[in-house]
Amino acid sequence: MEGKDLRYIQTELLNGNLTMQQLVKYYLSQIEKTSHLNAYTEIFREEVMHAAEQIDHHIRTHQQLPGPLTGCVISVKDLICIKDHKVSAGSRILDGFRSVYHATAIQYMLEAGAVIIGRTNCDEFGMGSASTHCIHGAVRNAADPDRIAGGSSGGAAVAVQIDSCLVAVGTDTGGSVRQPASMCGVYGFKPTYGLVSRYGLIAYASSFDQIGLLAHNPEDIHRVMEIISSADPMDVTMYRNRLYADSPDQEDTFAGSPQKIAVFKELLNSDNMDSAFAWAFRQNIQRIQSQGHEVEEISFPWLDYLVPCYYILTTAEASSNLSRYDGVRYGYRTAQYQSLEEMYVKSRTEGFGHEVKKRIMLGTFVLSEAYYDAYYTKAQKVRRLIHDFMDTLFKNYDFLLLPTVTQTAWEIQNPPSDPLKVYMSDIYTVLANLCGLPAISVPEALDESGLPFGMQCVSGKKQDKKLLHHVMDMQKWHNS
Ligand code: GLN
Repeated sequence: MEGKDLRYIQTELLNGNLTMQQLVKYYLSQIEKTSHLNAYTEIFREEVMHAAEQIDHHIRTHQQLPGPLTGCVISVKDLICIKDHKVSAGSRILDGFRSVYHATAIQYMLEAGAVIIGRTNCDEFGMGSASTHCIHGAVRNAADPDRIAGGSSGGAAVAVQIDSCLVAVGTDTGGSVRQPASMCGVYGFKPTYGLVSRYGLIAYASSFDQIGLLAHNPEDIHRVMEIISSADPMDVTMYRNRLYADSPDQEDTFAGSPQKIAVFKELLNSDNMDSAFAWAFRQNIQRIQSQGHEVEEISFPWLDYLVPCYYILTTAEASSNLSRYDGVRYGYRTAQYQSLEEMYVKSRTEGFGHEVKKRIMLGTFVLSEAYYDAYYTKAQKVRRLIHDFMDTLFKNYDFLLLPTVTQTAWEIQNPPSDPLKVYMSDIYTVLANLCGLPAISVPEALDESGLPFGMQCVSGKKQDKKLLHHVMDMQKWHNS
């Protein structure tokens, strides 16, 4: 099925050249062949075969597809709730916990005819850049199984990379969809904050978290976005209307019309960028210019503030969000304790992994009375300045072009020695989350070791459709 999009699958299903059962069996065999990559934490074998059988029956008897997403087999990151299934958030603290409802986005997809093949592995509570901080073990990259898949939605990226589903549903707080997509050579899209319901997404940092999508092409992402961007009364931070589906289709008017694209001067002149990336980045600019678009270098004075601002605010929000895991309400409880206090402490000590504990401590520190103004308040102010800068930028430009990552996938056994370096590697992705902007990582090229990397295109708030259509246009141009 590799290289085939939803439109093709749906045509074949209607023609009778393909059945859902054949399609699902193919995906299941892909999962089996690649189980050493540890992309999945659970496979819904019987459930998905049963759903496929019912869809085949419907198509045979009605000669039509039951829904707009029929034929769309999805995987779901283990941080998003699926009714009557376990959800672990990659953590021991949720041991044995089962969800009693579907996340809204999942519910919408299922109602539109999608089926779920399984849950994908990820970093604990979405905290990480490598999918190695996980109770289920590290995810491995199909391009080189000794290397990381990126994170935190590493399982989702590998699920698409190995062609075991059409679309993988992930989450992106600071790049967790785009960064692994880049490292695995697939598309990864984070929508505008508030466009897709967060209900049923286990919270890490609520003002940053968004559900995102990974796929082999932007068309399939667009098809799913039309369904999941409907309003949801369960998420008060959402836009009320069907912003994505109702914004005009830009395909006809947009193709070929010149766009203004910004790049940050500081990046082009930076020594930090790997030489393969710098080369690819410049190639990309030339390609865009040769298509008739205008590329302008502009100065971005906030580059050094992105990562500190992101980590202060997200750890603060995480320390508050994760206080609900107390051994009483959900999942794991320590076996032996003398007092309530001891039960809380031991359950959390045994239940959370090292990275999560580090972030809870950091977050508690920046929220503490003595340091609140010095760190938390200041970071909020910086966030506002960056946000306003980007708002103004998108009044003058259609898109911003950025690299997605600072390096290709590293060896699992040989991670960067300084943990700060791992945090710093989020520098290009956190901007979109700090400002609530939509962004997509597009597969660009391979480095000298044959490892994939992507480039990122960012647009103004609520311009998600324009962004996806722009990428579709570029792809058509590239293939022609
Ligand atoms: N690497 C980032 C972090 O660890 C991004 C996480 C995410 O987007 N969920 O916070």
